[in-house]
Amino acid sequence: MNNLMTMKNELARTMLKKDPSSLIDVLKMKKEWDNRNDDYSVGTYGVNVKIMKRMLSSFEDTLGTPIKLEVINVGFNNMCHNNCINLCDMCPEYKVQLGYNITACDCGNLMCMEIHSVIKDKDDKLYDITPDFNNETKKWFIPLNTNKTMHQISALCGREYDVYNTNISKCKCKINWSKNMPSFVPSEFNNAIKNLNRIMIY
Ligand SMILES: [Zn+2]
Repeated sequence: MNNLMTMKNELARTMLKKDPSSLIDVLKMKKEWDNRNDDYSVGTYGVNVKIMKRMLSSFEDTLGTPIKLEVINVGFNNMCHNNCINLCDMCPEYKVQLGYNITACDCGNLMCMEIHSVIKDKDDKLYDITPDFNNETKKWFIPLNTNKTMHQISALCGREYDVYNTNISKCKCKINWSKNMPSFVPSEFNNAIKNLNRIMIY
């Protein structure tokens, strides 16, 4: 928390200087959010720790230990990767930690993992500096054990590892879950991440 809040204005200036289109993306996402045609969404509230731990137990060491982080409102909404990369450029004592944000529907049966960046300090303490349109105050995060950056993963795999759901179909919230969202196949995920880690980038 602490001194990170003091970086808010400078980070905004850096983002606008380096990548002015990111502000347009934020405004577009905000418009989409405001015009969404149902009131259902996934969030931190529905995450059931027991289901989450069961789900994660099949992921070997490709994923670290889940941790619930307080959201520190330093960066632009929903721009986690840019927020973290730029903040770490400005403050080299922090490093980007790639991983997944875990959310769930209110009944907790459908859980989603979305690729997410946070930062870590020299003691490996994690900080989530990206607010979202849900105005979450806390978010679940699982570190991804990868030696690649977000941009390297995107270059190698496109958006293949961005979002997953748990494929538990007993959701009691009557939500029409998008069929475009791939379901977890932990063995495939483990292999894919291990293969990615083996790729050398010069
Ligand atoms: Zn549900």
